[in-house]
Amino acid sequence: MEEVRKHNGSLFSEKIVGDSGVLGLTYLHTLECTKCKRQFSSEKPQTVCPTCNAPLYARYNLEKVSETLTKEDLVGRRADMWRYFELLPVRSKENIVSLGEGFTPILKLRSIAGELGMEELYLKDDGLNPTGTFKARGLAMAVSRAKELNLEKLAIPSAGNAAGALATYGANAGVEVYIVMPVDAPMTCKIESYMAGAHVFLVDGLISKCGEIIAEGTDRFGWFSVSTTKEPYRIEGKKTMGLEIAEYFNWTLPDVILYPTGGGTGLLGMWKAFSELQELDWIKGSLPRMVSVQSEGCAPIVKAYNEGRKESTFWEDAQTFADGIRVPKAFADSLILKTLYESDGGAVAVSDAKILSSSKTLAKAGVFACPEGAATLAGLTKLLDAGVIAKDASVLLYNTGTGLKYTNGYAEQVELDLPLIESARDISL
Ligand SMILES: *Cc1c(COP(=O)(O)O)cnc(C)c1O
Ligand SMILES: [Zn+2]
Repeated sequence: MEEVRKHNGSLFSEKIVGDSGVLGLTYLHTLECTKCKRQFSSEKPQTVCPTCNAPLYARYNLEKVSETLTKEDLVGRRADMWRYFELLPVRSKENIVSLGEGFTPILKLRSIAGELGMEELYLKDDGLNPTGTFKARGLAMAVSRAKELNLEKLAIPSAGNAAGALATYGANAGVEVYIVMPVDAPMTCKIESYMAGAHVFLVDGLISKCGEIIAEGTDRFGWFSVSTTKEPYRIEGKKTMGLEIAEYFNWTLPDVILYPTGGGTGLLGMWKAFSELQELDWIKGSLPRMVSVQSEGCAPIVKAYNEGRKESTFWEDAQTFADGIRVPKAFADSLILKTLYESDGGAVAVSDAKILSSSKTLAKAGVFACPEGAATLAGLTKLLDAGVIAKDASVLLYNTGTGLKYTNGYAEQVELDLPLIESARDISL
């Protein structure tokens, strides 16, 4: 065993010996079924629990982490999500595929807060990630682990943004990428994936249909699927969202976090981060109320929550221009619902019209958000009106991506028709 010394500020200055005896950076210990708690080796590729068909969660030796890592050690580390490497699953730094993802800004929305009669309203802007969305976090992690475990053909069903991220990180890692997405996914995501050299296939159907095709492809072509929560590491990347929020607020979390929920990895990732930090005894005060926001055109989690159910049912005819949350049934629905109940949170559906007007409000405040991110502001407004969220609560909206990836969708929604002019005389104000 190598002696574990204090980190001197630069991220990869020290190597530590993990619990398994493997030389690495991490305290990753094992994978655990979220349902039956059976343990699986983290030394080889894993998907879901074969008995329960439930997601596997990475488990760390947190006792060791708390012996060697302090909050202060984080100060001065590199400003991306890898600053938390002890709590992340990559064993060797050579396998980290990074484009600078994470450590995104948290903005205080003063003018919007004022209009809503609130004092503390924040927005974490994950539109500033590589590939323009928070999907970069999960796929940087999944691709890094895939590289570490010698996987060479990665595949994904995607509403668009996960495809762009997998294509980009996969290209960086030098692995083959296979993508199946709905034919009406944003053009930006299709072209982004194509440009990065991925094999892109379109389907006249929803993401659920894409998922079925990917599952066939894994049998037929030996692809490894990194589909949402069907492999254990994307959620570890998303976990950094929670770690960053905690560090930013000096380990006292906001009262409420609103999150646009599709497959739910972001919500589950944040909750996992908070649970691990609580176990490390780093969090002061209570955990936030976690609120899922969905579109009225596709709100399976909201429906299940309102009915007090533990699982959701398939949402027929899912429709919304917020592509990332057009998920008719999340694979991890029971975990999402459990988090909403456990955190005394909530679930709210908003109309596409409200998403659009919220997006304009955010754009005027300086953030051109994706429709999913804008949905959180619409959800907040609704829950303030209903008295579910108090005006004196500190609230964080999670903007999952940039509006720049949705220019076509937005243009359609506003029926963009700008005047064509030849000189200033054509302008009547
Ligand atoms: C995928 C996606 C979501 C939904 O994310 P989950 O964590 O799977 O619920 C939200 N917003 C955007 C922009 C997305 O791409
Ligand atoms: Zn199980």
